[in-house]
Amino acid sequence: MKDKAEVFGTLYIVATPIGNLTDISQRAINTLSDVDVIACEDTRHTKRLLDAYSITNKTISLHDHNERQKQEYIASLLQEGKNIALVSDAGTPLISDPGFHLVRYCRELGLNVSPIPGACAAIAALSVAGLPTDRFSFEGFLPSKSGARQSVLTALAFETRTMVFYDAPRRAIDTVTDIVEVLGGDRDIVIARELTKTFETVYSDKAENILAWLAQDPNQLKGEMVLIIEGHKADANEILPQAISTLKLLLTEMKPKKACAIAAEIHGVKKNALYDIALSLK
Ligand code: SAM
Repeated sequence: MKDKAEVFGTLYIVATPIGNLTDISQRAINTLSDVDVIACEDTRHTKRLLDAYSITNKTISLHDHNERQKQEYIASLLQEGKNIALVSDAGTPLISDPGFHLVRYCRELGLNVSPIPGACAAIAALSVAGLPTDRFSFEGFLPSKSGARQSVLTALAFETRTMVFYDAPRRAIDTVTDIVEVLGGDRDIVIARELTKTFETVYSDKAENILAWLAQDPNQLKGEMVLIIEGHKADANEILPQAISTLKLLLTEMKPKKACAIAAEIHGVKKNALYDIALSLK
Protein backbone atom coordinates (compact mmCIF):
# COMPACT_ATOMS: atom_id res chain seq x y z
CA MET A 1 0.00 0.00 0.00
CA LYS A 2 1.27 3.51 -0.88
CA ASP A 3 1.79 5.91 2.01
CA LYS A 4 -0.06 9.25 2.23
CA ALA A 5 2.93 11.28 1.04
CA GLU A 6 2.95 9.39 -2.28
CA VAL A 7 -0.80 9.54 -2.89
CA PHE A 8 -1.53 13.12 -1.83
CA GLY A 9 -0.19 16.21 -3.53
CA THR A 10 1.82 18.99 -1.90
CA LEU A 11 0.80 22.55 -1.13
CA TYR A 12 3.84 24.71 -1.97
CA ILE A 13 4.03 28.14 -0.31
CA VAL A 14 5.96 30.08 -2.92
CA ALA A 15 7.66 33.44 -2.26
CA THR A 16 7.55 35.87 -5.19
CA PRO A 17 9.41 39.19 -5.76
CA ILE A 18 8.64 42.36 -3.77
CA GLY A 19 9.37 44.61 -6.75
CA ASN A 20 12.18 43.48 -8.99
CA LEU A 21 10.76 40.60 -11.03
CA THR A 22 14.11 38.83 -11.19
CA ASP A 23 14.13 38.28 -7.42
CA ILE A 24 12.69 34.79 -7.73
CA SER A 25 14.43 31.47 -7.28
CA GLN A 26 14.80 28.88 -10.02
CA ARG A 27 13.00 26.44 -7.73
CA ALA A 28 10.04 28.85 -7.43
CA ILE A 29 9.85 29.14 -11.24
CA ASN A 30 10.03 25.35 -11.62
CA THR A 31 7.36 24.85 -8.98
CA LEU A 32 4.99 27.43 -10.51
CA SER A 33 5.48 25.76 -13.90
CA ASP A 34 4.97 22.20 -12.63
CA VAL A 35 2.06 22.40 -10.16
CA ASP A 36 -1.50 21.63 -11.26
CA VAL A 37 -2.98 24.89 -9.93
CA ILE A 38 -1.62 28.21 -8.63
CA ALA A 39 -3.74 29.84 -5.91
CA CYS A 40 -3.17 33.62 -6.12
CA GLU A 41 -4.18 36.54 -3.94
CA ASP A 42 -4.99 38.43 -7.17
CA THR A 43 -4.88 36.40 -10.38
CA ARG A 44 -4.38 39.49 -12.61
CA HIS A 45 -1.48 40.70 -10.52
CA THR A 46 0.23 37.30 -10.53
CA LYS A 47 -0.31 36.97 -14.28
CA ARG A 48 2.33 39.67 -14.84
CA LEU A 49 4.89 37.52 -13.01
CA LEU A 50 3.79 34.33 -14.76
CA ASP A 51 3.95 36.06 -18.18
CA ALA A 52 7.50 37.24 -17.45
CA TYR A 53 8.54 33.61 -17.03
CA SER A 54 6.22 32.20 -19.75
CA ILE A 55 4.28 30.17 -17.19
CA THR A 56 0.82 29.34 -18.52
CA ASN A 57 -0.48 27.33 -15.58
CA LYS A 58 -4.06 27.43 -14.30
CA THR A 59 -4.71 30.03 -11.56
CA ILE A 60 -7.48 30.36 -8.98
CA SER A 61 -8.05 33.19 -6.52
CA LEU A 62 -7.52 32.86 -2.80
CA HIS A 63 -7.76 36.05 -0.77
CA ASP A 64 -8.78 37.21 2.71
CA HIS A 65 -12.48 37.12 1.85
CA ASN A 66 -12.74 33.63 0.33
CA GLU A 67 -9.93 31.74 2.06
CA ARG A 68 -12.23 29.80 4.42
CA GLN A 69 -14.50 28.71 1.55
CA LYS A 70 -11.62 27.77 -0.75
CA GLN A 71 -9.64 25.77 1.80
CA GLU A 72 -11.86 22.67 1.52
CA TYR A 73 -11.69 22.74 -2.28
CA ILE A 74 -7.90 23.10 -2.26
CA ALA A 75 -7.56 20.31 0.32
CA SER A 76 -9.74 18.06 -1.86
CA LEU A 77 -7.46 18.70 -4.85
CA LEU A 78 -4.42 17.81 -2.73
CA GLN A 79 -6.18 14.64 -1.60
CA GLU A 80 -6.72 13.73 -5.27
CA GLY A 81 -2.94 13.92 -5.69
CA LYS A 82 -2.78 17.37 -7.31
CA ASN A 83 0.10 19.71 -6.44
CA ILE A 84 -0.81 23.32 -5.66
CA ALA A 85 1.22 26.51 -5.26
CA LEU A 86 0.08 29.41 -3.11
CA VAL A 87 1.43 32.87 -3.96
CA SER A 88 0.53 36.35 -2.71
CA ASP A 89 0.84 39.66 -4.56
CA ALA A 90 4.38 40.16 -3.26
CA GLY A 91 6.93 38.41 -1.09
CA THR A 92 6.24 35.52 1.22
CA PRO A 93 2.61 34.39 1.53
CA LEU A 94 1.14 34.49 5.08
CA ILE A 95 3.44 37.38 6.11
CA SER A 96 0.72 40.06 6.39
CA ASP A 97 -0.88 38.16 3.52
CA PRO A 98 -3.53 35.42 3.13
CA GLY A 99 -2.77 31.72 3.61
CA PHE A 100 -2.71 31.13 7.37
CA HIS A 101 -6.15 29.43 7.48
CA LEU A 102 -5.38 27.29 4.44
CA VAL A 103 -2.00 26.16 5.77
CA ARG A 104 -3.43 25.36 9.20
CA TYR A 105 -6.34 23.43 7.65
CA CYS A 106 -4.05 21.40 5.38
CA ARG A 107 -1.63 20.64 8.20
CA GLU A 108 -4.51 19.51 10.43
CA LEU A 109 -5.52 17.09 7.67
CA GLY A 110 -1.97 15.75 7.59
CA LEU A 111 -1.36 17.08 4.06
CA ASN A 112 2.12 18.07 2.88
CA VAL A 113 2.87 21.79 3.04
CA SER A 114 6.29 22.81 1.79
CA PRO A 115 7.96 26.27 1.61
CA ILE A 116 9.73 27.66 -1.47
CA PRO A 117 11.51 30.54 0.30
CA GLY A 118 12.40 33.91 -1.16
CA ALA A 119 11.79 37.63 -0.80
CA CYS A 120 10.13 39.19 2.23
CA ALA A 121 10.02 42.98 2.63
CA ALA A 122 10.47 42.85 6.42
CA ILE A 123 13.60 40.70 6.19
CA ALA A 124 15.01 42.65 3.23
CA ALA A 125 14.56 45.90 5.21
CA LEU A 126 16.12 44.45 8.36
CA SER A 127 19.10 43.22 6.38
CA VAL A 128 20.05 46.79 5.42
CA ALA A 129 18.72 48.78 8.40
CA GLY A 130 21.84 48.71 10.54
CA LEU A 131 19.80 48.06 13.71
CA PRO A 132 20.31 44.96 15.87
CA THR A 133 18.97 41.83 14.17
CA ASP A 134 19.92 39.20 16.76
CA ARG A 135 16.39 39.54 18.12
CA PHE A 136 13.54 41.41 16.48
CA SER A 137 9.79 41.61 16.60
CA PHE A 138 7.63 41.71 13.46
CA GLU A 139 4.56 43.83 14.25
CA GLY A 140 2.77 43.77 10.87
CA PHE A 141 0.70 46.79 9.78
CA LEU A 142 0.36 49.78 12.09
CA PRO A 143 -3.25 50.99 12.48
CA SER A 144 -4.16 53.83 10.11
CA LYS A 145 -5.87 55.97 12.79
CA SER A 146 -3.66 57.95 15.15
CA GLY A 147 -5.42 56.91 18.39
CA ALA A 148 -5.11 53.18 17.66
CA ARG A 149 -1.56 53.66 16.38
CA GLN A 150 -0.54 55.46 19.58
CA SER A 151 -2.04 52.60 21.64
CA VAL A 152 0.05 50.06 19.73
CA LEU A 153 3.19 52.18 20.19
CA THR A 154 2.45 52.68 23.91
CA ALA A 155 2.15 48.91 24.39
CA LEU A 156 5.56 48.53 22.71
CA ALA A 157 7.31 51.39 24.56
CA PHE A 158 9.50 49.03 26.61
CA GLU A 159 10.09 46.45 23.88
CA THR A 160 13.86 46.00 23.77
CA ARG A 161 13.95 44.12 20.45
CA THR A 162 14.16 45.93 17.11
CA MET A 163 10.56 46.38 15.87
CA VAL A 164 9.54 45.96 12.23
CA PHE A 165 6.28 47.40 10.86
CA TYR A 166 4.55 47.62 7.51
CA ASP A 167 3.01 51.04 6.85
CA ALA A 168 1.94 53.24 3.94
CA PRO A 169 4.40 56.05 3.11
CA ARG A 170 1.47 58.45 2.65
CA ARG A 171 0.94 58.11 6.41
CA ALA A 172 4.64 58.33 7.26
CA ILE A 173 4.55 61.87 8.68
CA ASP A 174 1.57 61.05 10.92
CA THR A 175 3.16 57.78 12.02
CA VAL A 176 6.53 59.32 12.85
CA THR A 177 4.77 62.19 14.67
CA ASP A 178 3.08 59.55 16.87
CA ILE A 179 6.42 57.80 17.41
CA VAL A 180 8.00 61.08 18.58
CA GLU A 181 5.05 61.69 20.88
CA VAL A 182 4.88 58.19 22.40
CA LEU A 183 8.47 56.90 22.25
CA GLY A 184 10.36 60.19 22.12
CA GLY A 185 12.30 61.93 19.35
CA ASP A 186 15.50 60.16 20.26
CA ARG A 187 14.66 56.70 18.91
CA ASP A 188 16.54 55.56 15.84
CA ILE A 189 14.19 54.84 12.97
CA VAL A 190 14.79 53.35 9.54
CA ILE A 191 12.49 53.89 6.58
CA ALA A 192 13.03 51.31 3.84
CA ARG A 193 10.95 52.38 0.85
CA GLU A 194 10.44 50.85 -2.58
CA LEU A 195 12.95 48.06 -1.90
CA THR A 196 14.35 46.41 -5.04
CA LYS A 197 12.57 49.02 -7.22
CA THR A 198 13.83 52.07 -9.13
CA PHE A 199 13.37 54.55 -6.28
CA GLU A 200 14.67 52.32 -3.49
CA THR A 201 15.51 54.47 -0.45
CA VAL A 202 16.82 53.37 2.93
CA TYR A 203 17.07 56.27 5.35
CA SER A 204 17.91 56.21 9.03
CA ASP A 205 17.99 58.91 11.70
CA LYS A 206 16.49 59.89 15.04
CA ALA A 207 12.69 60.04 14.88
CA GLU A 208 12.56 63.85 15.26
CA ASN A 209 15.02 64.34 12.36
CA ILE A 210 13.10 61.92 10.14
CA LEU A 211 10.08 64.21 10.37
CA ALA A 212 12.00 67.10 8.80
CA TRP A 213 13.43 64.81 6.11
CA LEU A 214 9.96 63.52 5.17
CA ALA A 215 8.52 67.03 5.08
CA GLN A 216 11.12 68.35 2.60
CA ASP A 217 10.64 65.59 -0.02
CA PRO A 218 7.09 64.60 -1.04
CA ASN A 219 8.54 61.68 -3.06
CA GLN A 220 9.28 59.95 0.23
CA LEU A 221 5.53 59.68 0.80
CA LYS A 222 4.97 57.43 -2.24
CA GLY A 223 5.13 53.70 -2.85
CA GLU A 224 5.59 51.02 -0.21
CA MET A 225 7.61 51.05 2.95
CA VAL A 226 8.88 49.10 5.91
CA LEU A 227 9.39 51.08 9.10
CA ILE A 228 11.90 49.86 11.67
CA ILE A 229 12.20 51.25 15.19
CA GLU A 230 15.13 50.56 17.48
CA GLY A 231 14.23 48.75 20.69
CA HIS A 232 14.02 50.43 24.10
CA LYS A 233 17.46 50.76 25.68
CA ALA A 234 16.92 49.63 29.24
CA ASP A 235 19.00 51.46 31.86
CA ALA A 236 20.65 49.15 34.42
CA ASN A 237 18.74 50.91 37.24
CA GLU A 238 15.45 51.21 35.38
CA ILE A 239 12.55 49.17 36.66
CA LEU A 240 10.37 48.21 33.71
CA PRO A 241 6.57 48.27 34.18
CA GLN A 242 6.54 44.52 33.41
CA ALA A 243 8.76 43.91 36.47
CA ILE A 244 6.39 45.90 38.67
CA SER A 245 3.38 43.93 37.35
CA THR A 246 5.17 40.66 38.12
CA LEU A 247 6.08 41.92 41.57
CA LYS A 248 2.48 42.94 42.32
CA LEU A 249 1.28 39.47 41.35
CA LEU A 250 3.92 37.68 43.41
CA LEU A 251 3.20 39.88 46.46
CA THR A 252 -0.33 38.46 46.60
CA GLU A 253 1.16 34.98 47.16
CA MET A 254 4.39 35.45 49.14
CA LYS A 255 6.53 37.62 51.40
CA PRO A 256 8.20 40.73 49.83
CA LYS A 257 11.73 39.31 50.08
CA LYS A 258 10.90 36.19 48.06
CA ALA A 259 8.67 38.12 45.61
CA CYS A 260 11.48 40.60 44.91
CA ALA A 261 14.03 37.84 44.40
CA ILE A 262 11.81 36.04 41.86
CA ALA A 263 10.77 39.23 40.00
CA ALA A 264 14.42 40.36 39.88
CA GLU A 265 15.46 37.02 38.43
CA ILE A 266 12.70 37.05 35.79
CA HIS A 267 13.35 40.62 34.61
CA GLY A 268 17.09 40.90 35.19
CA VAL A 269 16.82 43.86 37.59
CA LYS A 270 18.33 44.59 41.00
CA LYS A 271 16.57 42.98 43.98
CA ASN A 272 17.08 46.00 46.22
CA ALA A 273 15.46 48.43 43.82
CA LEU A 274 12.41 46.16 43.73
CA TYR A 275 12.34 45.91 47.50
CA ASP A 276 11.73 49.67 47.85
CA ILE A 277 8.85 49.37 45.39
CA ALA A 278 7.46 46.34 47.24
CA LEU A 279 7.42 48.32 50.50
CA SER A 280 5.67 51.24 48.83
CA LEU A 281 3.06 48.85 47.40
CA LYS A 282 2.21 47.36 50.77
N1 SAM B 1 4.06 39.18 2.06
C1 SAM B 1 4.81 40.39 1.82
C2 SAM B 1 6.25 40.19 2.30
O1 SAM B 1 6.70 39.06 2.35
O2 SAM B 1 6.92 41.16 2.55
C3 SAM B 1 4.18 41.59 2.45
C4 SAM B 1 2.77 41.81 2.04
S1 SAM B 1 2.04 43.19 2.81
C5 SAM B 1 0.38 43.04 2.24
C6 SAM B 1 2.59 44.52 1.83
C7 SAM B 1 3.49 45.48 2.63
O3 SAM B 1 4.82 45.02 2.61
C8 SAM B 1 3.54 46.87 2.03
O4 SAM B 1 2.46 47.67 2.45
C9 SAM B 1 4.85 47.38 2.57
O5 SAM B 1 4.73 47.80 3.92
C10 SAM B 1 5.69 46.10 2.51
N2 SAM B 1 6.38 46.02 1.21
C11 SAM B 1 6.10 45.18 0.18
N3 SAM B 1 6.96 45.39 -0.83
C12 SAM B 1 7.80 46.37 -0.44
C13 SAM B 1 8.90 47.03 -1.05
N4 SAM B 1 9.30 46.72 -2.27
N5 SAM B 1 9.54 47.98 -0.34
C14 SAM B 1 9.16 48.31 0.91
N6 SAM B 1 8.11 47.73 1.53
C15 SAM B 1 7.45 46.77 0.87
